Amino acid sequence: MNGPGDILRAAAARFGDRTALITATKTLSYAQLDDFADRVAAGLLEHGVRPGLPVSLYSQNRWEWIAAYHGALRAGAVVNPVNVMLTMEELAFVLQDCGAAAVFTSAAQAPRVAELTRGLPDLRAVVAFGGGANGVLGFDELLASESETPTFTADPTAPCTIGYTSGTTGHPKGAVQSHQAVLLNCALTATMHGRDERDIVVTALPAPHVYGNVAINGTFLAGGTVVLMERFAATEALRLITEHHATMFEGVPAMYSMLLSAPELDEADLSSLTRCTVGGQTIPLSTIERWQTRAGAPLIELWGMTEISGLGTTHALHAPPVPGSIGVALPGLDVRIADLDDVGRDAPTGQPGELMVRGPLVMLGYHGNAEATAEAIEPDGWLHTGDIATMDGTGHVFVVDRRKDMIITGGYNVYPAEIERVLAAHPAVALVAVGPVDDEVRGELACAYVVLVGGAAATEEELIAYAGERLAAYKRPRLVRFVDRLPATSTGKIMRRELIKQFTP
Ligand code: ATP
Ligand code: MG
Repeated sequence: MNGPGDILRAAAARFGDRTALITATKTLSYAQLDDFADRVAAGLLEHGVRPGLPVSLYSQNRWEWIAAYHGALRAGAVVNPVNVMLTMEELAFVLQDCGAAAVFTSAAQAPRVAELTRGLPDLRAVVAFGGGANGVLGFDELLASESETPTFTADPTAPCTIGYTSGTTGHPKGAVQSHQAVLLNCALTATMHGRDERDIVVTALPAPHVYGNVAINGTFLAGGTVVLMERFAATEALRLITEHHATMFEGVPAMYSMLLSAPELDEADLSSLTRCTVGGQTIPLSTIERWQTRAGAPLIELWGMTEISGLGTTHALHAPPVPGSIGVALPGLDVRIADLDDVGRDAPTGQPGELMVRGPLVMLGYHGNAEATAEAIEPDGWLHTGDIATMDGTGHVFVVDRRKDMIITGGYNVYPAEIERVLAAHPAVALVAVGPVDDEVRGELACAYVVLVGGAAATEEELIAYAGERLAAYKRPRLVRFVDRLPATSTGKIMRRELIKQFTP
């Protein structure tokens, strides 16, 4: 195998009749999904999509998205999975920026997408899942192609996908990921978490995101079944785990918080779960412990980013637990903690610094953005992750927080994640995020935005006092605001930069 485009073909040969994918609308065996991918590839070829041309995928999770991803790779296209939460302006920028030759989207969005792509020099087709009209090609029409399935062999070091970052801290950037980086990531995810053909993985992670991609294709590599939700809803996730006797659930921290505070949690049967994974954002230890107790299975933390095509660190399934750690570096990735003031020097063991990574998993660069690439990747190949972390003597890494999210209050550096971890353990708190509020005296103050557990009560004074007993005085949040929900990305990550915008009266 040279890239992720070879995963489904190999799985179909080995596991043909086993169920590959279950969505709300369809259940597909490996053989069936493989056949759809072949027909997509043939259809793209017939419509003039040649190897190396970008094909964008813009829709919610659905089975056609998965077929289109594998079909486009089979045709030799460079796949551009687009975050569904992008605004129309951002989408227009992405499609133009990568020079899309074809765009797959939902029937509902197709007219807008057709409008946006008018005039793109390389555009061959806009394809609508669910049916086309007015110059938009229906997915069924594409599948009806009479062309032969192309045989494309990927160069492992060439661009495979252009994946956009979550946009948690600003404008999303397109990371150009190589075939080997994506494939290696799927393979490492499969082995580290011990996936095999008995696995039934329930997830609502978006397919366009690197975490969603490794969860899906890592499972395909092992011959397991993916139960893919269109979007996350706690009640539905609990129902699917129960109904399908899921062996794994995979998601971001906020999803676990929501599962744990769902009224349906008591009736759900989680006994089939053998392990779950969590990553994408710092997770409070109390959330991990509560989920492990309720599910009776380990919750394995992982850390990753778009710029490394998926995961960078995680724990092996049977490794002794190291609470609070994101695990050890995956094979193929060098990891170091750089001094915050001198990137060439390592921070002393146990001391915080910037997490730096290097190796074949690292992106080739940001698409069409040499300046951002040069800022992110040092000349000797080390990528700045933007994350502050520590490493212990055994190579276990602990994330402190994102460098960008640090709050400076009265001259002290305060990391929101530290406050969030403490408040998340309070029994009345379902979800919490901490962000800065301007203050004349201290420059910035830490403000905690709290979603309470249904039916529970707590006051601002009580939560500040609770945090005060567990944190140094300068780290204590000065303000608490009670809110109904927190702003999140399509992955479900809480966007701290949106807090102040959304909740300032
Ligand atoms: P943008 O770069 O556009 O702001 P983003 O960084 O959220 O968005 P992703 O590539 O999806 O985009 O996420 C990578 C980041 O997610 C990491 O740099 C890190 O900050 C965070 N992250 C991932 N896993 C973990 C984890 N287990 N613990 C803490 N943070 C994590
Ligand atoms: Mg990032």
